[in-house]
Amino acid sequence: MSQIIDGKAIAAQIKDELKEEVMRMRSGGISAALAVIQVGRDPASSIYVNNKKKACEYVGIHSEVYELPEEVSQEELLALVGRLNRDDKINGILVQLPLPGHINEESVITAISPKKDVDGFHTENAGRLMVGKKGFIPCTPAGIIQLIKRSGFDIEGKECVVIGRSNIVGKPMAALLLQENGTVTVAHSKTAHLKEVSSRADILVAAIGKPKFITADYVKEGAVVIDVGIHRMADRKMCGDVDFDSVYKKAAAITPVPGGVGPMTIAMLLCNCVEAAKR
Ligand code: NAP
Repeated sequence: MSQIIDGKAIAAQIKDELKEEVMRMRSGGISAALAVIQVGRDPASSIYVNNKKKACEYVGIHSEVYELPEEVSQEELLALVGRLNRDDKINGILVQLPLPGHINEESVITAISPKKDVDGFHTENAGRLMVGKKGFIPCTPAGIIQLIKRSGFDIEGKECVVIGRSNIVGKPMAALLLQENGTVTVAHSKTAHLKEVSSRADILVAAIGKPKFITADYVKEGAVVIDVGIHRMADRKMCGDVDFDSVYKKAAAITPVPGGVGPMTIAMLLCNCVEAAKR
């Protein structure tokens, strides 16, 4: 029987720990505040922004949401980022992605002060992660490390395979697993013999963006399988990049979708906000 890694429960545990920390900080005169910028009214983005706001409220982090119209210019958006960078009351700034096509995402991300970049997407923070210096770590891979550790699995010495090499998931994931002394392979769309590569993994992280792509024949018996993908199917049900029903029987542990990696992403954003306030 495979263990189902309960991301909801682990995220709740982290949020409760943070709530206590925020209370302790407040009694020492330190408060945490996050500014979230949303451009346009994409329904999925609105749900994410609202969830972040609610999570901040729960742990006691002040949050401010800036809703800008779809047609806002890049200059106006950059001006707001600049104002928030200079605002001493704001510790963390997050720009909800994706942005409309006329705005260059990279310019906006690099305009955020690295000290307030709680998403960990700024190149300075990406560089810090690569050389093992303290900085902000992207929330999804940071959450996955917590999921693995808090479920009682060791990373050190383990064969880790990450499928996907995006800047926000795959690459930082590989860097973090390496920091934890895993032996890391990064696979992608040009990887030859993917099944052979992924079947070597003691820890397999699937961040591909293709529903139910990873079936049991990609997985080693007894592996820990982390499913980063999120997809809404035609029947409105959600699934991940892993074919849960077949992989569940073979893996030692697996994250479900929903309720696995997803809840951890927000929990780690809160961690980064608290860290930003402390710094
Ligand atoms: P992405 O930027 O589209 O990257 C996908 C990666 O998968 C790329 O590196 C791509 O390789 C690789 N890939 C695509 N097809 C492949 C194949 N047939 N074989 C092997 N590798 C393949 O996606 P992302 O932003 O990393 O996100 C991945 C998934 O995670 C998406 O479903 C996304 O919605 C989800 N996600 C979830 C959370 C969460 O909180 N749970 C957070 C972020 C993302 P190339 O580089 O060669 O193109």
